[in-house]
Amino acid sequence: MFIDARATDQKKIESDICIVGAGAAGITLALALSGKNLRIILLESGGFEPEPDTQALYTGANTGVPYYPLESTRLRYFGGTTGHWGGACWPLQAHEFERRDWVPHSGWPITREDLNPYYVKAQETCEVGPFNYDAEHWSEASDQPELPLGDSRLLTSIYQSSAPPTRFGSRYREDIDQAGDIRALLHANVTQIHRDPLSQTVQHVTTRTLEGKTLTVNSRLFVIATGGMENPRLLLLNDIGNQHDQVGRYFMEHIGIPKATLLLAKDVNTLFYKRTSINGTDIRAGLSLRPEVIKKEQILNTWIGFQLKATPQSRLAHSVDTLKSSIMNGDIPDDFVHHLKTVLRSMRQIYRDRDPAESDDDELGGTGELVEIPVGQQSEQSPNPLSRVTLGDQLDALGQRKIVFDWRLTELDYYSIRRTQEITAAEIGKSDLGRMKIPNPKEPEVWQHPQRISELAQPQGAFHHMGTTRMSTDPQHGVVDSDCKVHGTKNLYMAGSSVFPTCGYQNPTLTIVAMAHRLAEHLAAQFPEQEPT
Ligand SMILES: Cc1cc2nc3c(=O)[nH]c(=O)nc-3n(C[C@H](O)[C@H](O)[C@H](O)COP(=O)(O)OP(=O)(O)OC[C@H]3O[C@@H](n4cnc5c(N)ncnc54)[C@H](O)[C@@H]3O)c2cc1C
Repeated sequence: MFIDARATDQKKIESDICIVGAGAAGITLALALSGKNLRIILLESGGFEPEPDTQALYTGANTGVPYYPLESTRLRYFGGTTGHWGGACWPLQAHEFERRDWVPHSGWPITREDLNPYYVKAQETCEVGPFNYDAEHWSEASDQPELPLGDSRLLTSIYQSSAPPTRFGSRYREDIDQAGDIRALLHANVTQIHRDPLSQTVQHVTTRTLEGKTLTVNSRLFVIATGGMENPRLLLLNDIGNQHDQVGRYFMEHIGIPKATLLLAKDVNTLFYKRTSINGTDIRAGLSLRPEVIKKEQILNTWIGFQLKATPQSRLAHSVDTLKSSIMNGDIPDDFVHHLKTVLRSMRQIYRDRDPAESDDDELGGTGELVEIPVGQQSEQSPNPLSRVTLGDQLDALGQRKIVFDWRLTELDYYSIRRTQEITAAEIGKSDLGRMKIPNPKEPEVWQHPQRISELAQPQGAFHHMGTTRMSTDPQHGVVDSDCKVHGTKNLYMAGSSVFPTCGYQNPTLTIVAMAHRLAEHLAAQFPEQEPT
């Protein structure tokens, strides 16, 4: 059931579990807890559509590595930032959970094996294919070979795409509405979290609409799921969990530094490295370093993707798949006309290409000369206590202090990208497939001086906000324990990528959703007296 906080006369609500924030994490949690005879409250700042005044609550200041305006990197309405996410899904790798001697502050208190059952559920929630990220499997299934990398230092690594990307707000709106045990309050901004220091228990939270209407929610358990920047902001605003000055520190993003290019033989397009739909699962392949190479080199993990031009066949398959899955769900996709035109154009082109006299020379897939292909990369950032979110003096429309965001990169971050490019270039050259051009003639010097590299090749973030309420069994080194409970509290939990101690190179949402399923199980187990309905 949905309730608009602007329109209700209720002043107080009682619940068993109160979830703050209805994005990927909050919606997953609420639905996973439904049907267990619990009273669930979902508090959401926005409505069903973006609203400028609500979105403006996300503004803040940037003082570190140049970054996007903060309000453009996340969305504040029902469904959260999945309203414009790209849908790329992949799990973290087992070795990324381990402590690495050369990465300060690395190591999760849980393992990839602990998360595996929840990744299976997350695949379903994010509407991707089976929980199988074995490149060899998908390459064989697609009949498209991998690069013949042999025993080189490189691996083919793939991700799956939620296509079209699951918009949690529209996809799960009806499920929330129909669930008799979920009450979702819209336009309900949580501003205060009332924690009793003696019992270390959160007793209630206060919500406020932009018009000034307030409401109190009492609950046995509370979960904050407001995204990687707002999660620390809410804790800092309420002075909770910060007894060791850990809240807001260790902010991590995935780093892209553009400009490398690959010169490959034209027949690369018959290989596995473009976006392909295989048995209804959208796959994209790229390269990464083998775990043992990362360890030997003492660097961070990076994914290298080739920005290949789509063929008419791949465009046709993608558009047909998109139309098919939307229509089977009873929807007309937003970009219906675009996909229809793509289907018609691609079919015409495929037909025309059967006659060599009319074939299009620009397409990859011809013979002979080398083609220049831009190379994109997405790299892991190391956890760094100086890279952080704090509170400034400026106030938002609710009278709450805005964020000051200070994104900082270390020499290990820059060196790891540089070294991965060097190794990739050497291996591509050795395999005789082509050559990789990496930027900047005076690179060795440049890469040892982080300030200079950012002048030459501006690092870009990927809109992934991680690490700011990190998980650690030791309260001196983290904000939440291995169950995502805030240290120093008995009933307050955090959900989302703010709890990641390290971030790999993989886009975070599949892991956020898997961890939300795990947390739901943990929370439900605290109500043993409740029988499922
Ligand atoms: C352009 C873009 C592309 C992306 N592409 C990908 C991708 O391909 N793959 C991937 O894995 N990730 C991608 N992401 C990141 C992805 O969108 C996020 O990881 C994901 O949405 C985070 O989920 P969340 O639930 O933690 O936070 P959000 O989805 O941001 O949800 C937070 C919710 O909390 C609400 N809220 C905030 N403050 C309050 C408050 N005080 N009171 C009540 N409610 C509040 C917000 O309104 C929002 O609904 C992308 C992001 C962007 C911007």
